[in-house]
Amino acid sequence: MLQGLNAIVTGSTSGIGLGIATVLASKGANLVINGFGAAAEIEKERATLESSHNVQVVYSDADISKPDQVKAMVDLCVDSFGSIDILVNNAGIQFTARAEDFPEDKWNAIIAINLSGVFWGMHHALPHMQKKGFGRIINIGSVHGLIGSVNKAAYVAAKHGVVGLSKVVALENAGTGITCNTICPGWVHTPLVQKQIEDNAVRDGITVEQATENLLAEKQPSKQFATPQQMGELAAFLASEAAAQMTGVAIPVDGGWTAQ
Ligand code: NAD
Repeated sequence: MLQGLNAIVTGSTSGIGLGIATVLASKGANLVINGFGAAAEIEKERATLESSHNVQVVYSDADISKPDQVKAMVDLCVDSFGSIDILVNNAGIQFTARAEDFPEDKWNAIIAINLSGVFWGMHHALPHMQKKGFGRIINIGSVHGLIGSVNKAAYVAAKHGVVGLSKVVALENAGTGITCNTICPGWVHTPLVQKQIEDNAVRDGITVEQATENLLAEKQPSKQFATPQQMGELAAFLASEAAAQMTGVAIPVDGGWTAQ
């Protein structure tokens, strides 16, 4: 269904990004994967995606907080495959502290990766998409782009920024074949969330299992995690012809979290 399309998925060495890359490859898209990790593991992921799905996959080591490296990643996609058709801005980090305690370096890093990185990805990809008259930009926001939670000042600010920024790009390109939407996951069980669970277990003096149950019970009415695979299937839908008139929307996938 995505045969002949070329995609970048940032932060695809782990978690949601890996899930999205796997689904896009399974539907026939060539890929630029990106993110940190051990070189051997990344090469294994790259080769497995390629051989399992009969697509081409290249790796970019771009640090998404560096605009020149984001440009190089977009150029790698266009030079390798001839176009950039699908851009999934997924790379992200988390740090929790009350606003008055939030360290400057953590604030700057979260804004640089989770918000500015999304902007620079679109900034550099859009001219290529405009030239072709086709593009699908899928930004991975969060429920925290729609509502707040304590101790997440930088993350909530960045994710609200992503939702707003996506609306602007959607409007600027409406009717051109380019759409821009935001997926807003609730809890998805990835290394990013596992760290929060483990921190909560230490803070509350409980087991990791109990902290996992508490995390879900506090916010997510389904009391179940969403999966990286489900994020991938939604991204594939947004990249499809069926979603050509969906643009500028923020779609929660959150077990009812934001329905409350
Ligand atoms: P994760 O920690 O499993 O993966 C993050 C990925 O981003 C990794 O591949 C990592 O190497 C990469 N990355 C981090 N900093 C980078 C940088 N500077 N340059 C390039 N790559 C970088 O996290 P995840 O849970 O899969 O999160 C992915 C996205 O989904 C993030 O934007 C996160 O905010 C969002 N999200 C996650 C959840 C959840 O419950 N897991 C919920 C809502 C939103």
